[in-house]
Amino acid sequence: MIEIEKLTKSFGPITAVAGIDLKVEKGEVLGFLGPNGAGKSTTMKMITGFLAPSSGRVAVCGYDVENQTLQAQRVIGYLPEGAPAYGDMTPRQFLGFIAEVRGYKGADVKARIEAAVAKTELDAVLDQPIDTLSKGFKRRVGLAQAILHDPAVLIMDEPTDGLDPNQKHSVRKLLQAMSKEKAIIVSTHLLEEVEAICTRAVIIDRGRIVADGTPGELLARSRHHNAVTLVLPTAQADIAKAKLKALTGVASVEQTVRADGFAELTAFPKAGALLIELVSALAVSEKWDVKELYAEAGRLDEVFRAVTTHDAARARESRT
Ligand code: ATP
Repeated sequence: MIEIEKLTKSFGPITAVAGIDLKVEKGEVLGFLGPNGAGKSTTMKMITGFLAPSSGRVAVCGYDVENQTLQAQRVIGYLPEGAPAYGDMTPRQFLGFIAEVRGYKGADVKARIEAAVAKTELDAVLDQPIDTLSKGFKRRVGLAQAILHDPAVLIMDEPTDGLDPNQKHSVRKLLQAMSKEKAIIVSTHLLEEVEAICTRAVIIDRGRIVADGTPGELLARSRHHNAVTLVLPTAQADIAKAKLKALTGVASVEQTVRADGFAELTAFPKAGALLIELVSALAVSEKWDVKELYAEAGRLDEVFRAVTTHDAARARESRT
């Protein structure tokens, strides 16, 4: 549903997007991640036809975004970063205006607004000027305009930015509920969001894709993937650490002392080793007073750092 080929955008000497190739299918919720300035918003603006690429091409549902912009925009819902324009309008007026721009007339306008308002839970503020709304409500007005025409493709630039935990949860549920029938791209800095709703994650850095996979595949690249952590009294930590190190399959063991006085030992596996059963059997046979014992799926922040950390000089060099 979304096809991106060699997409590039330069602003003077800065290459914001440096040759991105990407395909997104129906049913996918793609998490678009990257450090500040990596090129996420610029890519989203090009996908939605709000910014012309320097080179490369985007097609949405078969429509070339540059040459068939209106057809493409009919099938796209776009939530840009920040608050909706027309802050002096109320959400009711703003959504009515958007519905008319989208070509709805009469009863359809009302029906579309009602459906979008119900999904984004905006009833309480429908007649209050957008400028006077809280950040979370402003974000939800933006979301309502993006889904008003029930588009096949949703491009959402940080949809949960500024929302409280309850609102984040309901927006994520909404995106998940809509995902079967749509292709969705969601940019976010919240890695837990990727694990919660995304079927796929793409990390970009300095305008290039540096990782692409399911959240599970990315987690498998984390140093903590299948690592086992054991929490026990500090007095037992030294001996436990030595015994853990001696286990087949253990590459290394790290120790931290927690604020509650307990010691935390993390055993990192050699490639492909599964440690949880070995470690729990050891803890039982050694009669350690284990407070917690768990294996980790991995840490996305670790993977994110590993693929996006670079020194500033190299970054400047590659951008110019
Ligand atoms: P963030 O996570 O901070 O939102 P981002 O990944 O969305 O960042 P972009 O906003 O796409 O990053 O910006 C990519 C690069 O392009 C940055 O260096 C930015 O300063 C630059 N840039 C974006 N828009 C323009 C513009 N209109 N003129 C000049 N430079 C721009």
